Amino acid sequence: MSQRYFSALTRLQRNITTVFSSTAALAFLPAISLGAYWFGGEATLVIVSALLPVIYLLSTAIPTNLMVSRDAVTGLFQRSAFEELTNQVYLRAAENGRHSATFFLAIEDYQQLIDRYGQAAADIVVQRTGERLIAALRGDDNVGQMGDARFAICMAPVRHLDLEMCIQLAGRLQNVAEEPISVDGISVYVSVSIGFCQHARSPAKDGYGWLQAAATALREAQRRGPSAIRAFSDQMRRDTQTRAELREEVVQALNSGQIQPWFQPQISTDTGQITGFEALARWSHPERGMIAPADFLPAIEEMGMLERLAEVMMYHAFAALKAWDGAGVDVPQVGVNFAGSELNNPQLLEKIKWELDRFDLTPDRLAVEVLETVVASAPDDVITRNINALGKLGCRIDLDDFGTGNASIASIRRFAVSRIKIDRSFVMKADRDPEQQRMIGAILTMAERLGVETLAEGVESVGEHVLLAQLGCDHVQGFGIARPMPFEQTLDWIARHTAKLQEVPRIMNGKAT
Ligand code: C2E
Ligand code: CA
Ligand code: CA
Repeated sequence: MSQRYFSALTRLQRNITTVFSSTAALAFLPAISLGAYWFGGEATLVIVSALLPVIYLLSTAIPTNLMVSRDAVTGLFQRSAFEELTNQVYLRAAENGRHSATFFLAIEDYQQLIDRYGQAAADIVVQRTGERLIAALRGDDNVGQMGDARFAICMAPVRHLDLEMCIQLAGRLQNVAEEPISVDGISVYVSVSIGFCQHARSPAKDGYGWLQAAATALREAQRRGPSAIRAFSDQMRRDTQTRAELREEVVQALNSGQIQPWFQPQISTDTGQITGFEALARWSHPERGMIAPADFLPAIEEMGMLERLAEVMMYHAFAALKAWDGAGVDVPQVGVNFAGSELNNPQLLEKIKWELDRFDLTPDRLAVEVLETVVASAPDDVITRNINALGKLGCRIDLDDFGTGNASIASIRRFAVSRIKIDRSFVMKADRDPEQQRMIGAILTMAERLGVETLAEGVESVGEHVLLAQLGCDHVQGFGIARPMPFEQTLDWIARHTAKLQEVPRIMNGKAT
């Protein structure tokens, strides 16, 4: 049944109940009955007296939960009603061999929208978006509101609907939803991500599972966003399943020591000496074996445990520094990765100070690795304050994945960055590609002017290493020097590396000495 049909029915129902429940109705009932008797005689009186209560009872007793569950303002179906309708559509399409699709759509950064314009304005944005979606669709398509800033759409079954048509429809919905919305004379711009699932691709044979699949596709779109559109695929389901399983285990893994850092050395291009190690998270899973961060960081993030990860990583990094110091080897610093959300903690500075104290280490032994993208957007006061305070404390600030995030020169200055880590994408095959060399040259020149050090990431070959030394990059890190290794192997590696340094002629500005 169409949305518009339901709206008309709801309105009629509401009007009847309002009229009959009013005190005016009490006042007029005797008059109506008398009038009926006057004009139509006894028979009419009986009919009218019997009919009025029946109409009233019927109007209140149409508890089609579908009606009750519609938003009074937007006219959108609410969750439970929408799910029920989707289930009906699922079964109908399956019976008749028709096609359909469910779409899940989310307004991104809704909280930011509220922070910036206020709740009332955000409500208007959501309401307009709902109205636009209804207007952009056919009358028999259903639109539901699935939370503050999320909508779901279930298309009425049709004869023909392929992937291309779904993508086009998603694009159209995205376009209408992303048109600026005027609130109190201000144009508000929002971006919208969409996930969808075609009827035939539904992993479950009911409307609920079908809808969940569209929600999964939406989550994938949001991970790739802003403004991404994703279709549900089987691979997505497998990934989601693995992620869900990892999600359940990740808290326990963090607390039981299954997640620990491995260490990858960084060396000076000038002297070949070790200038530090980067701590990289590894999950040694009892059944799945070693899991790389790309596969478990999303689970940690979804569980809101990034902060705990940073704590664990820092603890082990500091313990490693103490152990190296104790063994009499010179490791000046360890780099620990901090994602945006960890930097958002107002207590971060105190926490790091406390940990350094506990291990009796000076702040310059910690390099805080911050992604260039985080610094480039620097949306949050807390993040800005934290990075600066850590810099002031004496911690080193490494700007990670440099070249991928469009940080302005101003932001590099603003954040007291000590070193930029040139992203692997610039380093790959740099010894054979003049374009890569020009890019690296430009970054190095900028760094020199700003007085910050440089490190090239992902150095895999001797050729790349030599070129970077020639161009004047200060440090290198990569498989070409060593792969990340568990702490226990570092002492051996350091011993072998130091021994090699004595034998091999040094690479100094590209010339052997
Ligand atoms: P990243 O910070 O850019 O770390 C460097 C990544 O490049 C590491 O991957 C490292 O193993 C890899 N790598 C190093 N040398 C080479 C090379 O020569 N060739 C190639 N192909 N790769 C190389 P890994 O350990 O898988 O970590 C991936 C990303 O996960 C890291 O990228 C970092 O963003 C994130 N990550 C790792 N540990 C943590 C952590 O404790 N906290 C947070 N928030 N993120 C972490
Ligand atoms: Ca890093
Ligand atoms: Ca990096």
